[in-house]
Amino acid sequence: MDLDALLRSRVVDVPDFPLPGVVFKDISPLLADHVAFAGAVDAVVAHHGRGTIDKVVGIEARGFILAAPVAYHFGAGFVPVRKPGKLPLATHEEQYSLEYGTNVLQVHQDAFAPGDRVLIVDDVLATGGTAAAAARLVETAGAEVVGLSVLLELEFLGGRVAFTEQQPGVDVHALLTY
Ligand code: AMP
Repeated sequence: MDLDALLRSRVVDVPDFPLPGVVFKDISPLLADHVAFAGAVDAVVAHHGRGTIDKVVGIEARGFILAAPVAYHFGAGFVPVRKPGKLPLATHEEQYSLEYGTNVLQVHQDAFAPGDRVLIVDDVLATGGTAAAAARLVETAGAEVVGLSVLLELEFLGGRVAFTEQQPGVDVHALLTY
């Protein structure tokens, strides 16, 4: 089985979670399969190439799981972007819109060295609001966003277009597209 087919077989659609009408893409079976998990991490590292990234940002919570091994294999540092109230030091924060209401993400103000080249990693790219907020945080903190890697992209929700409008020239990379 090739990597695309293996990864697809390990993503489960859960209808009406967490809200009616939403089809949640559960990646737990993919993470639990060591061949699929390692294959996904290796594919992200291979796409960008070692030596091109200084810091890998993981977005809470499932982004952490992927971003940390990617950072390790790059020889890069890991930076968490978190929900409010979780980071102990001075933070920058960004608000972004959801279908209903708003969310906030934070990063430590001292998370990056000036000019650090940053890859943002998350599990799912849907409307792109989360990734775009993370990218604004990276820039506010003085670093440069060079890439966004996600396990899966829900193309019909337009996240790639929305993210690229905000971050032209940033490489958007999805292992699976639905
Ligand atoms: P968005 O900001 O709309 O691109 O949403 C992306 C974030 O929401 C990611 O951090 C995902 O973990 C989560 N997410 C959005 N839609 C889904 C979905 N259908 N299945 C699983 N996670 C999702």
